[in-house]
Amino acid sequence: MRFNAGEGMKLLTLRLEDIREKSVEIATQIPSTAFPVLSEMIHSGEVILTSPVSVEISAAHEFDHVRVSGRVSALVRLPCSRCLAEYEERIDTTFLLFYTRAQTAEGVEDEEIELSETDLVSVPYRGEEIDLIPEVDEQIVMELPLRPLCGDDCRGLCSSCGAELNVKECGCRRSVPALAFSTLNDLKINT
Ligand SMILES: [Zn+2]
Ligand SMILES: [Zn+2]
Repeated sequence: MRFNAGEGMKLLTLRLEDIREKSVEIATQIPSTAFPVLSEMIHSGEVILTSPVSVEISAAHEFDHVRVSGRVSALVRLPCSRCLAEYEERIDTTFLLFYTRAQTAEGVEDEEIELSETDLVSVPYRGEEIDLIPEVDEQIVMELPLRPLCGDDCRGLCSSCGAELNVKECGCRRSVPALAFSTLNDLKINT
């Protein structure tokens, strides 16, 4: 389920007219279905959203560009990469984007330009409106952990019997700690 532009769902659109003389603040909650990449991940089961996406934006015209600073947050459920149990985490990140009027002819896509090493991105726009959805979508997706962990001390699954070690100790002799222990003993013997 996705909103498409044809339906007139302008959930996060900046009208240049509105920021000509003053900055504009937007604070809103947007359903995850409005974000294409995020919806794709939800659809494939990589992440579950347990809240709408909260977006706070401050936009202003500045020199030859539009400066958009903002914050995006949402509650997500992720499968822990170690113990496979689902856990909840809050995604919360701030961002700063610069929108610059596209120089190329209609239909030719400008590339995003990395302005420096500090994550500043210049995004091209055309026309009199800027749809902020694609960039905010990217901000959320970038913030999702590549290797989700339910906690730093997650003990994961037993490599021999598959028991959930966070729940109970299974009693198996597991290769990794056993190896570390014998190395330590060898050292003691040699000294
Ligand atoms: Zn875990
Ligand atoms: Zn075991």
